[in-house]
Amino acid sequence: VSAGQQHGAPLAIGIDLGGSQVRAALIDRAGKVLKRSAVATEAAAGPDIVIEQLCAVAGEVGEGIDRSQLAGIGVAAPGPLDSETGVVLGIPTIAGFVDFPLAERLTSRLATPVTLENDGIAAALGEWRFGAGQGHKHLVYVTVSTGIGGGIISDGRVLRGRKGMAGHIGHMTIVRDGALCACGNRGCWEAYGSGTALAQRAQARSKTAPGTVLADGRIVDARGVFDAERLGDRLARELVAEEASILGVGIVSLLHLYSPEVVILGGGLAHAFDALYPGIASHVAEAAMPAFRDAAIVRAALTGNSGLIGAASMVFDAVPATTRA
Ligand SMILES: [Zn+2]
Repeated sequence: VSAGQQHGAPLAIGIDLGGSQVRAALIDRAGKVLKRSAVATEAAAGPDIVIEQLCAVAGEVGEGIDRSQLAGIGVAAPGPLDSETGVVLGIPTIAGFVDFPLAERLTSRLATPVTLENDGIAAALGEWRFGAGQGHKHLVYVTVSTGIGGGIISDGRVLRGRKGMAGHIGHMTIVRDGALCACGNRGCWEAYGSGTALAQRAQARSKTAPGTVLADGRIVDARGVFDAERLGDRLARELVAEEASILGVGIVSLLHLYSPEVVILGGGLAHAFDALYPGIASHVAEAAMPAFRDAAIVRAALTGNSGLIGAASMVFDAVPATTRA
């Protein structure tokens, strides 16, 4: 935590740099969102423009707030990034963010100390402090949307690893020589279990499945698959069952690796948690070693705000009296 931070200040700003949206929120020490702002990410425009967007949303939620009230600003961004130095190492979905000193650039532009964290870890932190992970010492947060990411709380602390890069759980290899992943490797969990992968399977299979509502020529996305599943569409039901089983495969590995009390599912596909849960649970019941099977699998409580709230809450860490864990 940088010097100059306002110790004991009641408010913090969280910024979430996402591939589709740049968002900011003003939160208090109880994790309550008091104000928010969002804008579509200019993902192809380069870092200078995106920095302006980050400053604009932060400025909007911080407007009228006295500096003495603000503990600082926490930023969540896609990895890999080095949270010790505040340098983004490379964001595949946003142009120009390669070895980019994001924390330093924002600190100087906003004249406020900025702390940078991987978005998966920030979301794990948010759920641990204020959401579905409250009261636990060991949890794994899994976000499933266009990709798969996550973060781990183990023994009552955040697992960061070298350069703060631990927890890229989407890039666990689940199939040797398997499907090509956005990271360049083959067979990653993300290449099979992400919403993107689900949508691609739906598009490919809808061409040959008779009678499916997914086959009317439109672009099918993950949400469309779950909508069709609710209508009883046969192909959609198969795809959802398969997706649940793929998620189960990764979750079984996470149970064996980290022995969490709870696995928290967030991201876009968490909206379909009820449809996915039975398949995930049944795979865990079959494949996890018996002693691991009683870990809970739950939906994220802060929905789309886990990372934003977690990022903001990081800046409260410097104050022992209010550190919750
Ligand atoms: Zn990968």
